[in-house]
Amino acid sequence: MAEKTYDVTELFGSDVFNEAVMKARLPKAIFKELMKVMHGNAELTLPIAEVVASTMKDWAVEKGATHYTHWFQPMTGITAEKHDSFISPVGDGTVIMEFSGKELIKGEPDASSFPSGGLRATFEARGYTAWDPTSYAFIKDNTLYIPTAFFSYSGEALDKKTPLLKSMDAVSKQALRILRLFGNTTAKSVVATVGAEQEYFLVDKKTYDKRKDLIFTGRTLFGAAPVKGQELEDHYFGVIKQRVSDYMKDLDKHLWALGVSSKTKHNEVAPAQHECAPIFESANLAADHNQLMMEMMKKVALEHNMVCLLHEKPFAGVNGSGKHDNWALSTDDGQNLLNPGDSPMENAQFLTFLVAIIKAVDEYADLLRLSVATAGNDHRLGANEAPPAIISIFLGEELNDVINALVAGTNVEAKHAQFDIGVTSLPKFPKDTTDRNRTSPFAFTGNKFEFRSVGSSLNISGPNIVLNTIVAEELEQFADELEKADDFKKALKELLVKTIKEHSRVIFNGNGYDAAWVKEATEVRGLPELKSTVDALPHFLDEKNVKVFTKHKVFTEVEMHSRTEILLENYSKTINIEALTTAEMATKEILPAVMAYEKQVCDVLLSKKNAGVAYNLEQSIANKIDSLAESLNSKIAELDSAIVKAQGISDVYEAAKCYHDEVFATMQSLRAVADELETIVGEKYWPFPTYEELLFNV
Ligand code: ADP
Ligand code: MG
Repeated sequence: MAEKTYDVTELFGSDVFNEAVMKARLPKAIFKELMKVMHGNAELTLPIAEVVASTMKDWAVEKGATHYTHWFQPMTGITAEKHDSFISPVGDGTVIMEFSGKELIKGEPDASSFPSGGLRATFEARGYTAWDPTSYAFIKDNTLYIPTAFFSYSGEALDKKTPLLKSMDAVSKQALRILRLFGNTTAKSVVATVGAEQEYFLVDKKTYDKRKDLIFTGRTLFGAAPVKGQELEDHYFGVIKQRVSDYMKDLDKHLWALGVSSKTKHNEVAPAQHECAPIFESANLAADHNQLMMEMMKKVALEHNMVCLLHEKPFAGVNGSGKHDNWALSTDDGQNLLNPGDSPMENAQFLTFLVAIIKAVDEYADLLRLSVATAGNDHRLGANEAPPAIISIFLGEELNDVINALVAGTNVEAKHAQFDIGVTSLPKFPKDTTDRNRTSPFAFTGNKFEFRSVGSSLNISGPNIVLNTIVAEELEQFADELEKADDFKKALKELLVKTIKEHSRVIFNGNGYDAAWVKEATEVRGLPELKSTVDALPHFLDEKNVKVFTKHKVFTEVEMHSRTEILLENYSKTINIEALTTAEMATKEILPAVMAYEKQVCDVLLSKKNAGVAYNLEQSIANKIDSLAESLNSKIAELDSAIVKAQGISDVYEAAKCYHDEVFATMQSLRAVADELETIVGEKYWPFPTYEELLFNV
């Protein structure tokens, strides 16, 4: 029976102060001015802000808002907000609702408790937030949310949005230069577009509540493999269970009201794992909306007595969660620059962007790798369920043929005409054949790239800042060279051929999970393999990397130092919490449970012994438990001393290294013992829900 439905077109964006609302409510002249500001063609002035603020407030109050907040994305990776009410006393004991232009434009949250990596001296705790007019304000929970950038008194960025906006400017500027060379005189800007496919797990709230590890760390620190895992491959795209389906419907409603274009939903590979993908939009909006999506996923789950896990690896032994970051460049009038196009000239332009991206990925593979480096994502990359930690590009067979033919100056296979740049057209690439390779970290999928290494919990700003900036750099080099050429086509061809030759080592169309690839990539091709977060992060400060970010004015060197420090500290803190939780669960939950069961076995043993019955079985079980329990106990002691050692190291890099090499390593070996115990100890003795209960309970 069909359910009663609602009008999606009416619901969509109903809580958003979007362009339609602005147009309907703002005086015409103000609306026009504001559009200019939103498109980056004018500065926001106070008189305009006054009108916008008051209109925004009236709209928000009509929709039940009592407060407003400057919403920002500090380096914690999640969003932050401080709420102020609109009330303003008028002197006779009553209040009116007020919101000024100043309050819209600029906020001054106490910033002392946000990570700044030494950027703000403690006496200067002030941070500022500034309205980002390119992202719409919206209402959530009776509060008007104003998307803002967050920066320090002396102007350094303290957030993820500011550098993202700067990187978008950088790539726009350089891409426009290339477009002009191809005779495009109409595009006013180039927009980095992003669609982030979000994976997540759902677990039952009551089951979740019994696991300290899930509560404190977002992942299970213990758990033997369930009897059934994902081996039957019966979950991927499978029928969605009713409880999950109800959740997804509710989630869509919340997202649509907020103007988040949730489009696709399906079951993922692992049991209890699902995905939600939005329609792509500008990178800045995609980043804001992905934050909202993650927040809503968690909130709506609770309303359905479930918990949404966004951790990259909630369960060992089953697939973890990623967030494919689909990325392309588009003109302001909607031409996708990564669409190969139909005419020879469009094809040539496409190849120019493509080759610039190939060069960017090869030269800055380390930046791409470190942009997705977190303690959580370390469990995925290189674990044969997600792409390897080695960054390479997948082009697909057809496109690869074209690239090869271009270099060799030969036919693109017999079936295609000889390919001459700017003269002949590219063969058509069927979109679906380019999407087969799921093992590549960076795959061309017909008209966009899909960066697959991004972790599910990550703020997508980081990887997109890197992509935009490194592509801006290569486009700038190309533009510099091509602008001075007398014969454009000849110069272009030479440039593309030379660049492909120099950087083809980063192209790999084979199986990224194959051990032979790791060997070939590192030993023959010389591609970097940065296995862990601790290996990757310090490369942020490599000379070439500092150069590219400072040159394009995305980060200052000081900001880069501070960010490296924050991210390394974040790694250490994460492992520290996991280690403490591991030790506590092992000591206070697992050992007592093991002893209770052991006592039960020994009781039976004794009574059998007294009765003169053979007790070999009990003896062997008790002995096994006893030796494992002893081993667990000594692992706990080992872990405790590793934690103490790591906590005592003041150098942030050395501390992170110790957390990785010693604390994390000991956690792993402790877990192995505990998981073995789980398989022996009687079910009703085990102190917390098992993987079976967690994965098959929703
Ligand atoms: P695929 O089948 O290759 O995964 P989809 O059409 O399902 O492709 O798209 C996956 C994600 O990529 C969606 O979020 C979609 O909006 C996004 N996407 C599509 N085109 C672009 C583009 N030009 N730029 C950025 N993201 C895009
Ligand atoms: Mg995809």
